[in-house]
Amino acid sequence: MPGRRSIVASEPLIFELASPGRPGVRPPLAQFDDVEPASVLPEGQIRESLDLPEVSEIDVMRHFVRLSQRNHSIDTAIYPLGSCTMKYNPKINEVTARLPGLLEPHPYQPETSVQGLLALIHDLEAVLGEIAGFATVTTQPAAGSQGEMVGLLCIQAWLRSRGERRTTVLVPDSAHGTNPATATMTGMRVEPLGTAADGNIDLAELDAKLNDDVAALMLTLPTTLGLFEQRILEVTRRVHAAGGQVYGDGANMNAMLGRVRPGDLGIDVMHLNLHKTFTTPHGGGGPGAGALGVQAHLAPFLPGPNIVKNGSGYALEPAGPDSIGRVHSHVGNVGNLVRGYTYIRSLGRDGMREVADDAVLHANYLRARLAPHYDIPYDRICMHEVVLAGTRQRSLGVRTTDIAKRLIDYGVHPPTVYFPLIVDEALMIEPTETESIESLDQFAEAMISVAHEAKTAPDLLHAAPSAAPVRRLDEVTANRSPDVNWINAD
Ligand SMILES: *Cc1c(COP(=O)(O)O)cnc(C)c1O
Repeated sequence: MPGRRSIVASEPLIFELASPGRPGVRPPLAQFDDVEPASVLPEGQIRESLDLPEVSEIDVMRHFVRLSQRNHSIDTAIYPLGSCTMKYNPKINEVTARLPGLLEPHPYQPETSVQGLLALIHDLEAVLGEIAGFATVTTQPAAGSQGEMVGLLCIQAWLRSRGERRTTVLVPDSAHGTNPATATMTGMRVEPLGTAADGNIDLAELDAKLNDDVAALMLTLPTTLGLFEQRILEVTRRVHAAGGQVYGDGANMNAMLGRVRPGDLGIDVMHLNLHKTFTTPHGGGGPGAGALGVQAHLAPFLPGPNIVKNGSGYALEPAGPDSIGRVHSHVGNVGNLVRGYTYIRSLGRDGMREVADDAVLHANYLRARLAPHYDIPYDRICMHEVVLAGTRQRSLGVRTTDIAKRLIDYGVHPPTVYFPLIVDEALMIEPTETESIESLDQFAEAMISVAHEAKTAPDLLHAAPSAAPVRRLDEVTANRSPDVNWINAD
């Protein structure tokens, strides 16, 4: 496999590599020789030593390159993490994001000097509106989850403007954890909604739970089971008939680009993850962009400022009186907006459709190849991802965690595991459109080989990973109180 199957050498800390008097750079300080620090700096800011490690440039470079190679990345090998859309980030995006006119502007520069940047974001909003079928788009939210929050706040504000107060949000039991979290953060009450045997929303349960306290249904399309909600028009019609709104979780827009416009299906408001569908880098909590599209009736409540086009060019207009207020400084995570725009423009209208077609084809290819080896609880044509279950393997004493850890030894990133919550021993695979047939085959063969090992050599799986820098971590503790010294632990 092309991924991380390399020699595992122990890597010292940067402080251990340091040696006093071995600086990486030697700035020309002669010009400061005659300057008395106390004459230019306040007393509290004068330091004798910064206690920084002194390491030569080449050693710094090698240290961090070696560390980077201990991690899996989309530039190393396939990264089929379901729901996360870990597609390849084209390098042209980085070129445009670094164009001085787009990279360097200061947020308080006069609008007349950033016309190109404002034009780009204005056009991005229009293009996203066209792709997803919404009247107005804001690029302010910094993540999908923040988009959800803005969307629900807009729904609340709209209800208030009609003299209504509703406090319940219906959330299907297959939903991403951010959906109930967002509803709770906005002060609403979450009412879970069951999934029918065919993977669609249970309509009878929907009817039973719709009442005049329901503010919204939060619907993921396609669902996190990787399935298109086949009765979507019926679902949105019933929610509207009961006076509620439909919030669409559009993190999975990859499956629908150029094929289906959620806004045409009765969805009132939906976020789009630029860092998933539109190839801006993500992971590790880095900057995201969760553009939010709304139908016209919700537009007055969106956060500001808005980029408007007037006779002489583009201007920033403060939010109107009904706005929910600001959610991000200035106009959002601009670098990511430039990257997403570049991706859309470099593919064009036909390219957008091809993205969805290939993403769906790839997931179904893996579904067909893996069906003989893994259980598939909701087995029908899937969209951009397929959800398998490690239930057959569990009966052999092997858990989904073991399968995931063993895949690391094959040099591939494991799929998302144990999500969606309604699938026992879930393995949620999203190959994305950017993988080649060879790379899909390598992944499929790794999965098949692990399924075989589960029968013949389960101990290999229990002990995995054996070819990674670390074995099994206590993942909760590793997240909550990371130990930066782990690298030397063994
Ligand atoms: C990723 C994701 C989210 C949350 O998006 P963030 O940008 O990570 O906040 C919400 N719903 C689904 C289905 C997702 O995959």
